Amino acid sequence: MYKSAQKMVTRVASRLGLGTSDIQNLLTNDAEHRFEISVGGEVYPAYRIQHSNKRGPYKGGIRFASHVDEDEVKALALLMSIKCAAVDIPLGGGKGGVVFDPRGQDPATTEAVARGYVRALAHHIGPDKDVPAPDMNTDGTIMDWMVDEFEKQTGDSSKASFTGKTMKNGGSEGRTAATGRGGVIALREYLKSIGKDPKGLTVAVQGIGNVGFYFAKLAQEELGVRIVAVSNSKKTLAIKDFVDNNEQLNFADKEFSRETIEQLATSATGELDRDAVWALGVDVVVLAALEDVIRHNNVELVKTNIIVELANGPIDDKAFENLVEQNVAVLPDVVANAGGVIVSYLEWKQNKADEHWNEVVVNQQLDAILSAAISATIARATSDNTSFKEAAFAIAIERLHA
Ligand code: NAD
Repeated sequence: MYKSAQKMVTRVASRLGLGTSDIQNLLTNDAEHRFEISVGGEVYPAYRIQHSNKRGPYKGGIRFASHVDEDEVKALALLMSIKCAAVDIPLGGGKGGVVFDPRGQDPATTEAVARGYVRALAHHIGPDKDVPAPDMNTDGTIMDWMVDEFEKQTGDSSKASFTGKTMKNGGSEGRTAATGRGGVIALREYLKSIGKDPKGLTVAVQGIGNVGFYFAKLAQEELGVRIVAVSNSKKTLAIKDFVDNNEQLNFADKEFSRETIEQLATSATGELDRDAVWALGVDVVVLAALEDVIRHNNVELVKTNIIVELANGPIDDKAFENLVEQNVAVLPDVVANAGGVIVSYLEWKQNKADEHWNEVVVNQQLDAILSAAISATIARATSDNTSFKEAAFAIAIERLHA
């Protein structure tokens, strides 16, 4: 992932006429923090990569996972700089990780790891320096522990040092659904740009977790699309109306839960092959599970005209080139999945102003920022005759280089 992010930045920056040393600057991290957290006799390697603060404080999640490695964190830090610049919010790029899997751990151990992470970095993070957030296997409770530890270490009580906190501790309305909602806004604006009515379009979603679920729910409610297939790591299901071509599956009264897929199973006509979501011939495929799921060796199965990338990097380089050659519109991750970081930015703004906005206000601001970003990406792709991904990178690189 790091090589492919660097390759994309280098390719687009060269096309924009940047020289070798400017490109090297774009790829160089401002700071790389490596340390160890010792808890209960175990030692957990930890990282915080601060890629660029040229446009504002570093911003990016902290993941807790046994597979975390430094290159993965570096790739994600670089992509955060690109993402924040592409959607034009005044934040930079950073990312963190700890080689520690909290699943199945006693909460006291997870809390000790979280607090240890903040103690090691207290002088390098903060509301105007670096504002971390949750990521893989980290959540609002972990952010609350981190904010509390940051206050103990520095005396800062603004809560603006971390985003993604729980609601009772300075979190923002609208954060849970923000990434899925952002994907809906991106799809809506793209369809508007090609003069296509979303009503009745068929959509398949890979990864019906937090992001995929809210995308499906809001796309159905607000755009009138038909969700016809969904998958998670265990099952791929065709939804009843896909076969009946009749009634819609109604998500409206369902709250997101880890059991969502089991609830959906009651409306399903049956199980499909694992990767069937992109081979069904639906109008829109939404990738909301993992990186590199469409690869050079399965890209020929893809049968759709529109792909929305909600996971980070779900299509590998070769597969991406193949899809672009076939005129498949790929709405790129750096814009399409930016809803979460945009609402994080709005949370940070609320904390700094000591305000709490209602969900309508948050969603209006998210919509304004993301629809402007996707429209600019579409316009740039048209004027440069490139893919949307290259257009988003070009906009971001110009802003980072300015
Ligand atoms: P999640 O853990 O809630 O959901 C992920 C879903 O993908 C789960 O339902 C899981 O079962 C499913 N899945 C895993 N492997 C699969 C496979 N091989 N085939 C089909 N489904 C599979 O995570 P999430 O928060 O919804 O995030 C989804 C993706 O979006 C991740 O790649 C994440 O990095 C990215 N992302 C998330 C946010 C956010 O705000 N949560 C923001 C930007 C990007």
